[in-house]
Amino acid sequence: MFKGKTALVTGSTSGIGQSVAHAFARAGANVMLHGLGRAEDLARQRSALIAETGVRVESHDADLRQPAEAARLVADTERGFGSVDFLVNNAGIQFVAAVDAFPPAEWDAIQNVVLNASFHAIRAAVPGMKRRGWGRIVNVASAHGLVASPFKSAYVAAKHGLVGLTKSVALELAETAITCNAVCPGYVRTPLVEGQIESQAAIHGLPRDQVIRDVILAAQPSKRFVEPEEVAALVLFLCGEQARSITGAAIPIDGGWTAR
Ligand code: NAD
Repeated sequence: MFKGKTALVTGSTSGIGQSVAHAFARAGANVMLHGLGRAEDLARQRSALIAETGVRVESHDADLRQPAEAARLVADTERGFGSVDFLVNNAGIQFVAAVDAFPPAEWDAIQNVVLNASFHAIRAAVPGMKRRGWGRIVNVASAHGLVASPFKSAYVAAKHGLVGLTKSVALELAETAITCNAVCPGYVRTPLVEGQIESQAAIHGLPRDQVIRDVILAAQPSKRFVEPEEVAALVLFLCGEQARSITGAAIPIDGGWTAR
């Protein structure tokens, strides 16, 4: 099912995207890794994945703050591998501030990386999927694509937008064998969240364990982090043949957060 097909996972040099990309490779798909960071780290990740799985792996460092770069990323993947069969829009950033103090440049960066780049990637990938008559698009949204929190206006707006984009694309493609879904994780233990633990501990003058339980996981009824591998397993399920009737869905994986 995955063998011989190609997965493009944006933001796969770290966290959730890394787990998703590695899960695709372990399932036999060729993989385009993508993300920012040091070239030598990306090269090391690529070599390790090839050595472990034997699939073809390439890497790309398009900066999605220039969202049209996502179209170049898709075009380069199609040129290199012959197709983009699985597109996972995962790259994301966060910035926390009151709305009346929110720096416009941070607002723009979040809209560009989270929402606008996803639009450009989908726009570029769909024609090839239509030609081949098959495709899977998974957008990594967030519980914040379904409900809000204060001080995260840009992120919440972008993730709600991404869920809306998911639904619209799914309806347009509903009569084809191309599906488009969103996954909506609660707090996942990744470098993005590790940074928030450190800064909240400093702000509140609390020990790490207490920050995790009473601040970070306050909204997450399970009181434990979602692991990146759990999100990867959900993404791969949505990419399988048995998920062909699931489209336009925004699926929470959040320890009960959005059940409240
Ligand atoms: P992370 O910081 O570990 O990884 C982010 C990835 O995005 C990295 O590969 C990074 O290089 C890439 N990236 C960041 N800015 C970029 C840019 N300008 N251009 C290209 N690539 C860029 O983050 P993560 O926690 O794994 O988050 C991945 C996705 O999951 C994000 O969309 C995030 O919003 C979402 N999410 C995370 C959590 C969580 O708790 N960690 C919860 C819900 C949703």
